[in-house]
Amino acid sequence: MSFEKLGLSKPLLKAINNQGYKTPSPIQEKAIPLILKKKDVLAAAQTGTGKTAAFTLPMLELLSQNNKKVAKLQVKALILTPTRELAAQVHTNVVTYSKYTKLTSAVVFGGVGINPQKAAIKKGVDILVATPGRMLDLVNQKALDLSCVEFFVLDEADRMLDMGFVHDIKKVLAMLPAKKQNLLFSATFSKSIKELAAKLLNNPTLVEVAKANVSNHKVKHIIHKVNKKDKKNLITHIINEQNMKQVLVFTRTKHGANKLSKLLDYDGLKSAAIHGNKSQGARTKALADFKNGDIRVLVATDIAARGIDIISLPYVINYELPNIPEDYVHRIGRTGRAGKEGHAISLVCIDEKEYLTDIEKLLKKEIEHIHIAGYEVDPSIKVEPKKQKGRGGNKGSKNPSSNSNNNSKTSKANGDKKNKRNYSTNNSFT
Ligand code: AMP
Repeated sequence: MSFEKLGLSKPLLKAINNQGYKTPSPIQEKAIPLILKKKDVLAAAQTGTGKTAAFTLPMLELLSQNNKKVAKLQVKALILTPTRELAAQVHTNVVTYSKYTKLTSAVVFGGVGINPQKAAIKKGVDILVATPGRMLDLVNQKALDLSCVEFFVLDEADRMLDMGFVHDIKKVLAMLPAKKQNLLFSATFSKSIKELAAKLLNNPTLVEVAKANVSNHKVKHIIHKVNKKDKKNLITHIINEQNMKQVLVFTRTKHGANKLSKLLDYDGLKSAAIHGNKSQGARTKALADFKNGDIRVLVATDIAARGIDIISLPYVINYELPNIPEDYVHRIGRTGRAGKEGHAISLVCIDEKEYLTDIEKLLKKEIEHIHIAGYEVDPSIKVEPKKQKGRGGNKGSKNPSSNSNNNSKTSKANGDKKNKRNYSTNNSFT
């Protein structure tokens, strides 16, 4: 299959060619023809599958064919994303793919000044990429008019609901015209996503692709079982031993991300933390420094990491396992992208055993355990009682992990013992 056969015209084919894409990805092959036929689409695709191009390319094609004029402050297409980083990333894609068309675009999100965004919209914009809060501010301030939207994309809808945007989404839907083409992209399909899809989409076609980054054999999943108090030494050891130049590390809490970043810096591994408490400027800088190789380790929470798109990011380390198994899929979606090789390494302590079970259930496979000499698990350490609930805390009746220290008596995570890897696999926790 080629992009030509999908029915895209020359200006788009030229832009695709500039990107070096040879063939459409599975989600592109399935979704593009349907969208070109003006169907509403419900797509089950996660990040890393080429989903952004899957909705952007046909949208640009249809908008270029229909050169309808709209009034000032009105936009023809709206793409909503849950996070600022994802909005910026999607907009970069829109700019790239629309390079040889006459279509114009802008991106708006919170955390930065609203006036330049108002000015950009005033100039006339065909496609707007936005996060919900800032977009609603712009509408309320009469700086944006959504009454002529022909094309609406809800990207990463599952994450949008996880982040509590359900009311904002409902408000946005009420502002959009009833007659328009709607696309909903989501990595997972909970009951609430299905309800949202039923409300938004008109006789939709469901498009599904395999969970590329999960079943993708190019992503190697590994766990290292370790005492919680030894994780810090172990992560430094792994990064140094494998000479990782660019590694994205996940923690479950903002505080945990800051703390780990400081510890890594102390160990000579230049790092930065990104999470919701950081200013937009700090987040953008950290991401840029990470992409340029100015920092080696980016420590992120789940939400902050949405939208990070670095081609061929070689390593993702879960310093702590997520308490929501789908988040594991999102996290490792950062590596092994677009057919490149990736490594997903998780440091798992006894408190996270249940999270690991949930993740393995979702992946439908057991993750290989590699023991690193010098980091033996102390069997006398018991699971700690849970402290809090929710994202970044502990899940329902499950056991907790990240909020306290344990007091291993026997584990000695020190010195030269750590240098030798012992590739014994082990099914019990210790
Ligand atoms: P996404 O799933 O949209 O986050 O895209 C993941 C990565 O795949 C991005 O870096 C895209 O530039 C890249 N990509 C998208 N479509 C293709 C394609 N057909 N061939 C190769 N790479 C692609």
